[in-house]
Amino acid sequence: MRYSVLASGSTGNSFFIGTEEIRLLVDVGLTTKRIEGLIREIGEDPTQLNGILITHEHVDHIRGLSVLARRYELPIYSNQATWQAIRKSVKDLDDRHVQIFETGERHQLGDLVVESFGISHDAAEPMGFTFAHQGKKLSYVTDLGYVSEKIKENIFNSDVLVMEANHDVELLRMGRYPWNLKRRILGDSGHLSNEACADALIDVIGSATRQVYLAHLSKENNMIDLANMTVRQILGEAGIDVESKVQINDTHPEKPTALDQL
Ligand SMILES: [Zn+2]
Ligand SMILES: [Zn+2]
Repeated sequence: MRYSVLASGSTGNSFFIGTEEIRLLVDVGLTTKRIEGLIREIGEDPTQLNGILITHEHVDHIRGLSVLARRYELPIYSNQATWQAIRKSVKDLDDRHVQIFETGERHQLGDLVVESFGISHDAAEPMGFTFAHQGKKLSYVTDLGYVSEKIKENIFNSDVLVMEANHDVELLRMGRYPWNLKRRILGDSGHLSNEACADALIDVIGSATRQVYLAHLSKENNMIDLANMTVRQILGEAGIDVESKVQINDTHPEKPTALDQL
């Protein structure tokens, strides 16, 4: 399986995962043109895509959905509640475009086993995903207020973890966001802080884990170096070898991570 975080952050999210048989995107929160460019940048071909998985209906996850799904005739994999929310805001999609993928279900898509799980976020019914192929496992989880024990079970000992590190709590508290928005972000249905991300990683990193990607960083309330340093420090203090065993990787709002193979 090969993968790249094409873009990540509150301005737009998209993730590519491919095998011999299938090529999927998780979320398409940028314009179609931008996403097509990012896919070519990692050496893949947008005309070879086979489907789009949706975590939830916020615009930074579905901005390119309508055009991309129709242009390449791609099935959209979404749970029913998220699909209804999408249909309210995106008029030119209809039920022909969707393949319902309910929370907690496991589906074989080509030679990839995809499993969804529920997460806590202020959307209709948000999900995270795990992908399994040839004994390897990759987990993708962003946009969540906290990491439940159930989520930890799902993503435990993944070879690759793409995990939200949205904000630094102090930067957010001192920043210029209105109080209501700060409270929303900090709440159980908001976003994971750098510290909360690291605390969860301590519990889910296992002997197989090699790569962690810090995702969905806030432009206003975080910095790449700060997120990376905070996570490294907390994991290091917990005895996890972040110098050689587990790599902590950055993601970017506008450029893809190098296509990696596992
Ligand atoms: Zn988001
Ligand atoms: Zn969201």
